[in-house]
Amino acid sequence: MTQTPARLVLACCVLLFVGPVGGAAVLGAGAGQPDTPSPLALDDLAALDALIEEDEGADEAVVELDAGAALDVTLLAGVLGFALYSFKRRSESLKLVSWLLSIGYLGFYKASLVSVVDIFGALRASLPAFQDGQAYYLLIAFTLASTVLWGRLYCGRICAFGALTQLMDRIVPARFRVEPPAWLDRRLVYLKYVMLGTAVLYVLASGDTLVYRYIEPFWMFTRNGNAIMWTLLTILLLATVFVRNVYCRYLCSVGAGLGLLSNLTVFKIKRWGECSTCKLCEKTCEWGAIDGPKILVSECVRCDDCERLYADEDKCPHWLIQKHVARRAASAG
Ligand code: SF4
Ligand code: SF4
Ligand code: SF4
Repeated sequence: MTQTPARLVLACCVLLFVGPVGGAAVLGAGAGQPDTPSPLALDDLAALDALIEEDEGADEAVVELDAGAALDVTLLAGVLGFALYSFKRRSESLKLVSWLLSIGYLGFYKASLVSVVDIFGALRASLPAFQDGQAYYLLIAFTLASTVLWGRLYCGRICAFGALTQLMDRIVPARFRVEPPAWLDRRLVYLKYVMLGTAVLYVLASGDTLVYRYIEPFWMFTRNGNAIMWTLLTILLLATVFVRNVYCRYLCSVGAGLGLLSNLTVFKIKRWGECSTCKLCEKTCEWGAIDGPKILVSECVRCDDCERLYADEDKCPHWLIQKHVARRAASAG
């Protein structure tokens, strides 16, 4: 509604109220003349004007709120759109930019990450009202839809904490790395499901949602934690120096939830027949998400490292064999 019609509507309402209904009391009409409204006095006009001013102030606040929410949604849509674009382009440099946007905007600026608290909220039917959280719902909708379409794309590009640890992985010298043996890795990945199940049961039984502060480190983007939280975070980041993506791979409840959902993935990663014997992609995958020819969808974050290999005609044995066969056919002919 524009301000002028709003003023008119408010003025009519006030006149309707203070005139025939409240006229006797408000405008000082005599007790014996209840049906004869008095004309408006100067004082009453001033009161009416004050009411209209107040309404204008409220209108401006709402407009400001709407503008802020619209900007939030637009910027978030930009970050999500860029992440999707970088995924579709399978570009390593665009992925880096996407991580930086997530860390800077979604992390340190907005502190807006999908959290186990959202899972608690969904289970207890206690989520924010839509009009107060359009950006929140956009992030949740994108996360769920992209997981069903492609898998844990949220983990691979959008989650600010995941982006931070993946960036650490690029910076920390390889000699510091300790790679858990495959047999241990295969068992440790189940730990995150135990974390999720335990946290959900605990919250359903106790109603204490604040437990999230001790099972996920996302609060770090608010820089608002107690001594125990900072100590746990320091230990976690130190562990991440030695074991890449340790929290994401073994401990994250959100990652566990998205891992379960990613079993519905529509557009799966393609494989060649040669993948049953070739180990190149398995060795390349930093998430332990490839087991022989099989992609473990619940662990895969669609980082696209193996997809670039799949399409690489100079590295992937599938293409090398094709070229070799073509050369032999040409020389035989
Ligand atoms: S596993 Fe958890 S912390 Fe890691 S990227 Fe996914 S949601 Fe973020
Ligand atoms: S490099 Fe090619 S053949 Fe080897 S695992 Fe990857 S996609 Fe399969
Ligand atoms: S390398 Fe492939 S399987 Fe491993 S996380 Fe990346 S996209 Fe998924």
